[in-house]
Amino acid sequence: MFSFDDYKEIVRIVKNVGTHATYKEALNRDKFILMRHDVEYSVDRAYALAKVESSMDFTSTYFFQWTNNSYNVLSRRNMDMIKDMHERGHQIGLHFALNGMTDMKQIRKQIVKEMDILSEMFGFKTDTFSFHRPSKDVLRENIKLPGIINAYQDDFFTFAENVTEDTPVKVKYMSDANHIWRYGYPNKDNITGYDKVQILTHPFAWCKKGYDNFNNYKLLAEEKFKEIIESIDNECKDFGEYKDWFMERTVIEK
Ligand SMILES: [Zn+2]
Repeated sequence: MFSFDDYKEIVRIVKNVGTHATYKEALNRDKFILMRHDVEYSVDRAYALAKVESSMDFTSTYFFQWTNNSYNVLSRRNMDMIKDMHERGHQIGLHFALNGMTDMKQIRKQIVKEMDILSEMFGFKTDTFSFHRPSKDVLRENIKLPGIINAYQDDFFTFAENVTEDTPVKVKYMSDANHIWRYGYPNKDNITGYDKVQILTHPFAWCKKGYDNFNNYKLLAEEKFKEIIESIDNECKDFGEYKDWFMERTVIEK
């Protein structure tokens, strides 16, 4: 579960269907599969997954946060990885966190602001965003902004309140949130059974070997531990004498 091999199988199915599209392309199509990644905790994990996709000659959309507490989207290292992903043909967008905001006017303004800064800092235009933990109010609002695409707008996402038993789901949505595929696993039946499909995965949940929830968090925490050691080591000359002590306490599995 959640190994790169499992992920490759999903990509294989999506590629075989052949309707895979970017959000912009999907706007004008009757059939599409959207492959989306919301990046939490670790840009490294997103980068690793993007490389898996590249190895299969496949591209998708990655959404990054400004206000994430565990990674800095503007650090030199993270920016280099994100720019490389962009150059490999992946779409880069904003993963917008509400951070307690409820006023729709303010939310709309803030999205535009964050998208503008993202484009400015990355040096290429970003025009797509997804919400981090969207509230029902925000989904109901169906926010559409000029020149900006919302991964949850009604073209790509069927909001639950609008669906009765008689209404077929316009867009089949599958998400791996907390290692639970609440709306079904992206297997062949689920991917081919609908004209419009949006698949959301969180790169932090996936790694080469594939782990259960607990062991995945363990490995993720170890990766972040190693990251802080290397960050300190790069900044402070006098850290060298302590570095080994710290490194011995990481048990990173490759
Ligand atoms: Zn999120």
